[in-house]
Amino acid sequence: MSTTPALARAPTPSWVLAAMLSLTYGCVPSDFDYDTADDWEVAAAEIRDGIAEHLAIDPDAPRPPLRPVWIHGRQVHDGYAIENVSFASLPGVYVTGNLYRPLDAAGRSITAPGSLPAVLNPHGHFFEPGWYPRTRPDMQARAATLARMGAVAFAWDMVGIGDSTQLEHDAPSVPALQTWNSLRAVDFVRSLPEVDPTRVAVTGASGGASQGFALVALDDRLAASVPVAMLSAVFAGGDPCEDLYPDGLHGTLEVDATAAPKPQLVISDGGDWTAHVPDRELPFLRHIYGLYGAETNLESVHFGSEGHDYGPNKRAAMYDFMARTLGLEAPGEEPPAVPHATLVVFDPGHPRPQDAVIGELGIAGALRGLGGG
Ligand SMILES: [Zn+2]
Repeated sequence: MSTTPALARAPTPSWVLAAMLSLTYGCVPSDFDYDTADDWEVAAAEIRDGIAEHLAIDPDAPRPPLRPVWIHGRQVHDGYAIENVSFASLPGVYVTGNLYRPLDAAGRSITAPGSLPAVLNPHGHFFEPGWYPRTRPDMQARAATLARMGAVAFAWDMVGIGDSTQLEHDAPSVPALQTWNSLRAVDFVRSLPEVDPTRVAVTGASGGASQGFALVALDDRLAASVPVAMLSAVFAGGDPCEDLYPDGLHGTLEVDATAAPKPQLVISDGGDWTAHVPDRELPFLRHIYGLYGAETNLESVHFGSEGHDYGPNKRAAMYDFMARTLGLEAPGEEPPAVPHATLVVFDPGHPRPQDAVIGELGIAGALRGLGGG
């Protein structure tokens, strides 16, 4: 595990103390030690730099072309269409996913430039036989409903899962590549002519929220976020791909707080490490949003009798938030899932490109050019 010199050199910031106290006492201090937005901005910049340094990626590095972008397998449904997508996040490194696009009342594509918001939907470690995490019925319901509400929705694979087979999911480069792919997913949806680049939001549950936290911290282009079942002062996820943060950050809370003052809906439940969010994590977030005079931009919903998922009630809360925040229509009934096989990106008719870089050595080399030195 690499250390993070910038953080180690700095005077012990109060968020480090907060994290340490959280580990010890299971709570964040009531005195948050940030009196102004400027105070917090210093800490937030340190968090961003620490993540970038930990992952050895520079979010400001020049972005190589997304080409080749493949969009195929279009299927038209009531109010939306689904397409199967791959694009290059780095030369020879492919992101694979599904794009859900709104259709107008006549069933036609909506092409007016900049007319539609976009919602990114990274997935968590939710596995179900017969499906990719990306194609599971609840993910389809989420993305399809957002499309029927009027947003372009994109769901893509974690590295090493689903159609993403260039690197094993537990390989050392996964946290960096997964984060880079998230940044490129923003580039991808913003490259679609109909997408309004100022209205791009992200939502995910568990490991999907982990990807969202890192994305919000590193990418100022996000307009809003809905983290589900992952906010915690003391836990940042147990999977190797969630090794995203520098030493000293033991939970996701401070990283999530870098979203302030942008609109955010925190969704928590009683069945996992978000059980204490209303009393433990939200006061800190409210304090940070309050420094910007933006308390009303922070919303929360707690489902005390629910567990670790992105279930129907959580999705309904997210739809309501997205409708108000992005200017979407109210959600109708969630559409039924389509067969998994129709959502697969790489198949004999659409094989993975020949230039695909395979394995840790090659991927690490591709990432190396993104390092901050
Ligand atoms: Zn993982």
